[in-house]
Amino acid sequence: MWVNLNSHQAVSTPSFSSFVVPAPGMGVSELNSRKNMNELGFWILRYNNQVLITTTGGNIVENIFPYGRTSDFCDTQNVLLAGEWLGLPCYTADIDQLPEKQPFEFIMVRRLFGLAGAEAFALVGRATQLLDWQNNHRYCGKCGKPTTKKSGELAMSCSACGLLFYPRIAPAVMVLVLRDDEVLLARSPHFTSGVFSALAGFVEAGETLEECAIREVREEVGIEITNLRYFRSQSWPFPNSLMVAFTADYVSGILTPDPSEIEAANWFLRSALPPLPDPVSISRQLIDSVCDL
Ligand SMILES: [Zn+2]
Repeated sequence: MWVNLNSHQAVSTPSFSSFVVPAPGMGVSELNSRKNMNELGFWILRYNNQVLITTTGGNIVENIFPYGRTSDFCDTQNVLLAGEWLGLPCYTADIDQLPEKQPFEFIMVRRLFGLAGAEAFALVGRATQLLDWQNNHRYCGKCGKPTTKKSGELAMSCSACGLLFYPRIAPAVMVLVLRDDEVLLARSPHFTSGVFSALAGFVEAGETLEECAIREVREEVGIEITNLRYFRSQSWPFPNSLMVAFTADYVSGILTPDPSEIEAANWFLRSALPPLPDPVSISRQLIDSVCDL
């Protein structure tokens, strides 16, 4: 399956100096104790698939997330601790009523990178994935009974059979194939007009990342590769992907794009590349890593 790389354009590797993910298992128990105190913190509030950000006179303020207590924004039932922001707890919740008193704007999650940077984008990405997980696991997939948050662990537990449901991540592999002074780039019909990128696809059940890379390249363009080399990974919260990027060397085969997924594929000289994805995306970082000579 082709990953929509065109939408894959809004996060570089964050430094996480402001954004801290809770320690494993801390998410729910820590939140419960904090909820009882109605502690002050930052809030990632999702309303109609958009996030509320703080504004002052039409400008984005430094503290982009609303600040206050649980009682200022929502009831406590579906609140989750997303992490920390600027040293304070950062909570998240879906809301169906807008808070009063404070000026807010709505923003689509993927626009956050440009407005507030990689760390804010990453924290919101984590928050929205947790909210989706909570919303999508209110009932047990095995026996159909309601679930509850498990104490001391970021998990939903079935009240009847005890089955646990953890936030689910969908790994995907990206491969930039190299042949002498050329790189293999392709475009999906979903891409912005003219833009080419590396090949990518989702990992299937029972498959390793390496096997996925070899299969995807074979299926999508009909060539064989070898010598996979890990580049880096990137969380992508639309809705829950983890992109793992590699370079690889060409071995054999003639480019034969699969028309169901690939609109065009070509070898490009590293010194003469077509339009590429946004510079903040891992796909662009991967291409730049071998083409910035
Ligand atoms: Zn069950």
